[in-house]
Amino acid sequence: MNAEVDLLVAGAGPAGMAAALVASLEGLDVLLCEKSGEVGGTGATSAGTLWIPGNSQSKAAGFSDSAEDAARYLDALIAHRSRRDVRTAFLQTGPEAIDYLGARSDVEFLPCGRHPDYRGNLPGAAVAGRAIVPKPFDGRLLGGDFNRVRPPIPEFMLFGGMMVGKEDIPRLIGRFRSAADFIYAAKLVLRYLADRLRFSRGTRLMMGNALVARLFYSLQKRGVPIWFGAAITEVMGDRSGVIGARIRHGAKDVAVKTRKGVVLATGGYGHNKTFRAAFMPQPTPTHSLSCRENSGDGVAIGERLGARIAPEEHGRSGFWTPVSVTMRGGLFPHLSLDRAKPGLLAVNSAGRRFVNEAASYHDFVEAMFESHETVPSIPAYLICDSAFIARYGLGIIHPGTRNVRPFERDGYLVSGRTLDELAQKIGVPPAALRDTVARHDRFAETGIDLDFGKGETELNRFNGDPSHEPNPCIGPLATPPFHALAVWPADIGVSTGLSTDADARVLDTEGRAIPGLYACGNDMASVMAGAYPGPGINLGPALVFAYRAAMHARNLD
Ligand SMILES: Cc1cc2nc3c(=O)[nH]c(=O)nc-3n(C[C@H](O)[C@H](O)[C@H](O)COP(=O)(O)OP(=O)(O)OC[C@H]3O[C@@H](n4cnc5c(N)ncnc54)[C@H](O)[C@@H]3O)c2cc1C
Repeated sequence: MNAEVDLLVAGAGPAGMAAALVASLEGLDVLLCEKSGEVGGTGATSAGTLWIPGNSQSKAAGFSDSAEDAARYLDALIAHRSRRDVRTAFLQTGPEAIDYLGARSDVEFLPCGRHPDYRGNLPGAAVAGRAIVPKPFDGRLLGGDFNRVRPPIPEFMLFGGMMVGKEDIPRLIGRFRSAADFIYAAKLVLRYLADRLRFSRGTRLMMGNALVARLFYSLQKRGVPIWFGAAITEVMGDRSGVIGARIRHGAKDVAVKTRKGVVLATGGYGHNKTFRAAFMPQPTPTHSLSCRENSGDGVAIGERLGARIAPEEHGRSGFWTPVSVTMRGGLFPHLSLDRAKPGLLAVNSAGRRFVNEAASYHDFVEAMFESHETVPSIPAYLICDSAFIARYGLGIIHPGTRNVRPFERDGYLVSGRTLDELAQKIGVPPAALRDTVARHDRFAETGIDLDFGKGETELNRFNGDPSHEPNPCIGPLATPPFHALAVWPADIGVSTGLSTDADARVLDTEGRAIPGLYACGNDMASVMAGAYPGPGINLGPALVFAYRAAMHARNLD
């Protein structure tokens, strides 16, 4: 053995860093090993929202919610698909885990206020008070180690390195409309320019980047060692108990002995082709927004030791978003900015709608898979007119853009002077597309989508345009040229993983806990069992089960 610690944590994403931080705060001697040279994993590129029913940050802001309501909601949505004891543990520990981090470290959160659940028609669904986000963080506090924080995806930054939050967007767009917004926008840009004199990007961190930077900063303050370029390759032991792990650290293989156990938090199998083919719906989606290093190491290690993988049925395996592919080969996730706005519809290769375009990103892609069983729907096309792009933007095309030629030239956007021309260019039957648009235009007049109910849920309207009537999500396509943007399914996280009990202890194929082996984050079979109830259902459980794993390990003899 080359080293000995109480707890070894593999993976410095939100789950692994939270497990390491709580274990350290509880007095354990912890080592965190990270395969890449940066902390944050996919979490660094995320929106950073956590779904924590009954959280005290929202209660203090005047929103009422409870674990009981959320339990009814999850019962209605996933019933027997995930273990009820694990769900209960998540709901009952959520507020405690978040308050603990806020009180004992720099990992602090703010309430989101109104942020509707994604299946608002089910009992127990909430409109407000369930979601929280990390407080923005000043990356300058990390000094030289700021470069160790994985940056957000380039498509989500302005000027090649400036992060903007959801609240910044209207103020930046409206900077010439009021003096207050002009000053606000100018301050953001000046701060960014000052940052660039010293740092590789802006240091005003928001969303997922703020979360991982806060975790990293807190770990640093406690002096928790992090080995970079250090990938876990094997755990030592067997089903009757784990005694350590092997780590490929640079060019060396290192054996680390553990007194309490090993936490697998290597981010799931997003880049493991074999697992993708085995677990995901067919045809296996080719795009993943998971960070490159997430090649299923934790799941494979657990499987070799005899762990059970759940869920066992095919298909409930991912958390999805539609993505467009940018000119540089990047992926732009169509989460909430464009699909629900009035004046856009989505069609399959038959030129027909197949989904409520304003549904959650996950449900949109589930509908793509379903439609694809009868009509090719991968890719699907988002269709809109030029007035839509000028007003709301589309994918990487910012609102206010009048000249879309560069995007056409690079093959990102397809345009046609008429709907027929557009249909021919994307290979869908022109008559069908004309008919689909005409029918949708009639819905725009009445405000009622007779086919898919667009605009009927709180979530739809939340992401729509409140100033548009009679339905904030349905508008006509009237101003040529018309545009089409291809979208594909991509995973933002995975749901299939190592089956665990309520303390994140990995279970073997007989359902018995393997002593000393824990899994959290995307290495753990999601408590949501492939359903997407609301904003933050990856990161919420990731932090809560990291907390439970660390607390369980602390109590071991
Ligand atoms: C655009 C986008 C927006 C999102 N927004 C949200 C949101 O708002 N709310 C939400 O809940 N979820 C969101 N998600 C999903 C969320 O980011 C992920 O589910 C979450 O980051 C998973 O956390 P994790 O710690 O398990 O994995 P990761 O964050 O991916 O971290 C895993 C870490 O493990 C490391 N690693 C991999 N293999 C090894 C190994 N063998 N040894 C050591 N280290 C290893 C990786 O390098 C990485 O640093 C979003 C995702 C995307 C892409």
